Amino acid sequence: MIFYLIIHWPWFFSKYTGFAFGPFVLVKDKSNTKTIGHELVHVEQFWRMWTAPFWVAYLYQLIRNGYRDNKYEVEARERAEEMEQKYLKGDL
Ligand SMILES: [Zn+2]
Repeated sequence: MIFYLIIHWPWFFSKYTGFAFGPFVLVKDKSNTKTIGHELVHVEQFWRMWTAPFWVAYLYQLIRNGYRDNKYEVEARERAEEMEQKYLKGDL
C-alpha cells in the first residue's frame, strides 16, 4: 500500500503529460493510465526514500546522467506498465 493522490492538471506545457511531486501526481489527462503508471513508480521511489533524500538523489542522477538515463527514469520506464495494471486494479 502506498499513499498517492492523482490530481487533474490540464495546464501542462509542451510534451509533459504528468508530474509526480512526493505523493501527488499531476496529470494532464486522467484517462492516460500509461502516464499515471509511470508517475506512480516515482511516488513509490519517493516513499522508499522519503522527501529530501529522494529529491537530492534524483537531482544528482539528473545532473550526472541526464533525464533519460538517470536511474529513476529508467526504473519508471521499466515498471510503468506493472504499476499501471496495479492502478487499474485498485491494487496500490
Ligand atoms: Zn519520469
